[in-house]
Amino acid sequence: MERVSSATAAEVEDSLDAISTDQSGRSGKKRAKVWAYVDSEIVDGIEKAVCKYCKLQLSSVSGKGTTHLNRHIGYYCHHIPQEDRDRFLATLKNKSDRDNSVFDPVVFRGLIAKYFLSAEVAFRKADDPAWKEMINYCQPSFNVVGRQTVRADCLILYEEEKLQLHQKITKLKSHVSLTADLWSSNQNLGYLGVTAHYIDEEFELHKKIIAFKQISFPHNSFAVQDLICQPMTGQRMFESDEEDDD
Ligand SMILES: [Zn+2]
Repeated sequence: MERVSSATAAEVEDSLDAISTDQSGRSGKKRAKVWAYVDSEIVDGIEKAVCKYCKLQLSSVSGKGTTHLNRHIGYYCHHIPQEDRDRFLATLKNKSDRDNSVFDPVVFRGLIAKYFLSAEVAFRKADDPAWKEMINYCQPSFNVVGRQTVRADCLILYEEEKLQLHQKITKLKSHVSLTADLWSSNQNLGYLGVTAHYIDEEFELHKKIIAFKQISFPHNSFAVQDLICQPMTGQRMFESDEEDDD
């Protein structure tokens, strides 16, 4: 059989080494980010840190820290584009932010729900053993939530968003423009989406989906009118079919 990849065995081995599911022995191994910009070389029998860009030799004493290296890369090395230096400084800043942060399981659950919604992940994936293993590795104190909890958290986020949007639109001084879009799913079911467009006080344009409903045949003007008018009558705004069925 023909080889589909041009990568050598050594390259494959190298790339495999970049990630690992083995949790033994990897923790505690830390290398400062600055070493991506600096090489360690022996010059006249003495270990030196050599800038990869301008070849400047800086002292390198193990255990003495990398502050002087950070300073060179972040501020003084003009062989590195400003953009790259800014990015490097930002990674240093992020690290100190992390060191000061406190893990909050409530926020974490909210972020998990946000991720499931944003990436359109099926709720059952929350029960995947590899997902649980990953979360458990990142934060052993966190009681990993299952699909029922993730689903419930997503609904809480939805209710919060709905309330906020309702308040925003109620207070709005500008006009709201509605757009309706009809489409059919691959099971041949008809759906109607209603999008509200408005400009806020800061003169920023916003686009929000305020209804997404199944529409019965025939898709005539009366059916469309009914569904578009529903979301505008206060309470019914944003309600989904799922809620109607309850
Ligand atoms: Zn340099």
